[in-house]
Order: sequence, then C-alpha cells, then structure tokens
Amino acid sequence: MTPTKIYCDLFGHNYEITKKVTNHVKEYTCTCCKKQLTTDSNGQLTALTPKHQDINLALERIYNHKLMRLKRKTVHSSIY
Ligand SMILES: [Zn+2]
Repeated sequence: MTPTKIYCDLFGHNYEITKKVTNHVKEYTCTCCKKQLTTDSNGQLTALTPKHQDINLALERIYNHKLMRLKRKTVHSSIY
C-alpha cells in the first residue's frame, strides 16, 4: 500500500475530469492514486474498464460527428 492509497481510503478519492466524452459522459481520474472512473449508460459512476474506454471512444466519435453537423448547419443558416 502506498501513502496516497491510504489517503484515498481515509478521505475518499480526489477525482478530476480528465475527458469530456459527451455532455453526459465524462472520464475522471483521481489525482492521488490515478484510479479512473467513467459515467455508465445509467448515469452512474463506474470504474473505467477497457470495455468502457471502447464505448466512450465510440460515443465520442458519434458526439463529435453530431457537433460538426450542428456547426455546419449554424454556418449555413447565418449565410441565409
Ligand atoms: Zn484515489
């Protein structure tokens, strides 16, 4: 056990957002022990497993694609 792990056990993890996947799904990393969490499909925080990383990557791609389409739409409507 490392001292930072003991700190986390005593005081709880100190998560910060490391990645915004979508408006609702984010990835968090504990600044002390580097434990990673993510938001699952139920909106609950869960450990960031390789499976969740895959899901998040897919979500991110879809989300960015949507954003890009939205942006293009906005540009279009400002022309007319
Ligand atoms: Zn921690």
